[in-house]
Order: sequence, then C-alpha cells, then structure tokens
Amino acid sequence: MNPELLARKTIRDLTPYQSARRLGGSGDIWLNANESPFVNEFKIQCDRLNRYSTCQPEALIQAYADYARVDKSQVLTSRGADEGIELLVRTFCEPKQDSILYCPPTYGMYSISAETFDVGVKQVPLTADWQLDLPSIAENLDGVKLVFVCSPNNPTGNLIRREDIISLLNMTQDKALVVMDEAYIDFCPEASTVDLLAQFPNLVILRTLSKAFALAGLRCGFTLANAVVIDLLLKVIAPYPVPVPVADIAVQALSPAGLARTKFQVLDLSANRAYLQAGLSMLPGVTVYDGYGNYLLVRFPDGDALFKALWDNGIILRRSPIDNCIRISIGSRDECEKTLAFIRTQLEKIS
Ligand SMILES: *Cc1c(COP(=O)(O)O)cnc(C)c1O
Repeated sequence: MNPELLARKTIRDLTPYQSARRLGGSGDIWLNANESPFVNEFKIQCDRLNRYSTCQPEALIQAYADYARVDKSQVLTSRGADEGIELLVRTFCEPKQDSILYCPPTYGMYSISAETFDVGVKQVPLTADWQLDLPSIAENLDGVKLVFVCSPNNPTGNLIRREDIISLLNMTQDKALVVMDEAYIDFCPEASTVDLLAQFPNLVILRTLSKAFALAGLRCGFTLANAVVIDLLLKVIAPYPVPVPVADIAVQALSPAGLARTKFQVLDLSANRAYLQAGLSMLPGVTVYDGYGNYLLVRFPDGDALFKALWDNGIILRRSPIDNCIRISIGSRDECEKTLAFIRTQLEKIS
C-alpha cells in the first residue's frame, strides 16, 4: 500500500514553506535568506555529550533574559523562532475550531504552522502603507486565539506603529494573544515592544539568534511572555529541545564580548544597507522602501526579468509576492557592491 494514502488529508494537500534553501539556485552571492555575512568563532566542548541536555538551560535563559531586560520566568528557548510559532499554535488553538490571524504580505510560517495542525487561518491584509487594518481585524476576531504581527515586517521591512500595537493589545484582551515577531528587532532595538509585557498579559514576543547574531545554522530562538504563557508552552515542548552545543554557543553569543561583536556587526550591516538603498534609489524607475531589518524590499520596472538575470549570473535574491518587488538581504560591502553594479548594468541594457 502507498504510504501517501496513510497521511492526514491536511498534510497531503499542504504546500510546504518555500524556504530560500528549498528553492535552490547556484551562485556565489547569496542574499536571499536574510542571513548574516559574518562568520564568528566559538569554543565547542564535548565532555557533556553523553548526557541529555536540560529542557531550558539555566545559563542560556538567564543570558537572554538579561539581554532582553525581562525576568527569566518570561523566557522560553526553542529550536528557532519557528518552533516558538508552532508551540503557540499547538498550545492555544483547538484544531478544527480556533483560528490564527495574520496580516499579509508577511512571513509565511504562521499559516503553515496553523495548517499542519488543522487550525484555521484568517488573513487581514496590511493597509496600502503596510500598517495594521485595525477595523478589519476587529471584525475578524471571532474564534481567533493568536494574532501574529511582524515588526520589522518581512518582506516589506517597515515597522508597525506602536500606538496601533497597543490598540490591538487592548482590543484582544481576554480574547486572543498578540504575537509580535521581532526576528529583526536587534537592528532597531528601540522599536521593541518588550516594555509592554508588564502591562499586557496577552503579549507574546518572538526573537531569534538567526539574523543579527549571525547564527541561522544554530537554530536558537526565544519566546518572551508572561510566566503563565511560558509555563503553558513548557507543557508542550519536547523534553530535550536544546542540544548541549547549541546552548553553549548561544551563551557565548550572549556574553558581553559576544554582544559587543553583534552590535558592531549590526552597525556595519546598517551602513551597507544605507549604501545599497542610496545606490538603488538613483536608478530610474526603481523604488526602495525604507527597511529596518537586514534586508530591503525594492520595486523594479520588470522585477521578474531582473530576478532571473541575477539568478542566471549567480546572484541569488528572493522574489517577493508583491508586484515587481525583490527582497535583497544585506550582505558584506563587497556583495552589496557587486549586486548594485550588476543591477545598474542590467537596467541600462533595457532602457
Ligand atoms: C527568520 C525569521 C524567523 C525564523 O527564525 P528562526 O529562529 O531561524 O526560526 C521568524 N520570523 C521571521 C519574520 C523571520 O524572518
């Protein structure tokens, strides 16, 4: 018998997340997954690998709590922020009954996580200026347990207005959790909503070491929330979710020296982002949207043709669902220069 027929119908019908890795490509400039160009060194110890890890390694939780300025009872660590999304869905949404709500264009994993657990998905698109459509959200809250808001938003790059987030938190009190996806907040820490945790028991914040900390391959993320929410998530998480070497490396990344290095690298990438933004803005017919993360969303006269020309020449970027837009991750200065030069030449050819 074909095992395909044994799979749940939901899974047979599911289109998996089209991650940058899965889409493939070949080339020498990879600016498609919002990874950091920096390669940092860490010490690895093997003397505890015969033992299971602790579920929530104390040193790691304390280090992140100190970095985020919250209490350690408000921190959960997991296999990337993506596992945080999944844990929230599994903990708070009743299958075939409850829903999540999110605001496209945004990150794709909210809907995938909901769909794999037979949880409903409601979409309330962002407004024309990529802000929350609060009246529409208010009308669509029936049966919604989780509202996902990404700021800086991926792929558009903009911040969601703080006063709107506060309105949303008030609107959803006693009804739903508001999950702020702050995967890119280390590039603009002043925009974090972490200070609102004390005031709003329904606020949850997702963080990661994958972007600013240059550790996408480590798979280490965090959920920040009030202790009641964290304790519920701990009932659902696997018994040994954090490999010993992952915790060791993450603690080094969050040490004073590690934090100083990240701060320096964030400044460096912000300078490269400004360089790329200025260079692209000078090209005729090109619109660069203000970006607060380590990526820029850029509109071109013919986005598809340009994307393909770049791809064929070994410059791998990310196509966005928004008309003629391409998302460009901020790489090293050399990668930014080469990408800008190629785009400039390509656009001159067409005009
Ligand atoms: C990269 C990203 C994540 C996932 O982070 P991981 O910790 O690598 O799982 C979550 N949300 C957004 C918006 C992202 O861009």
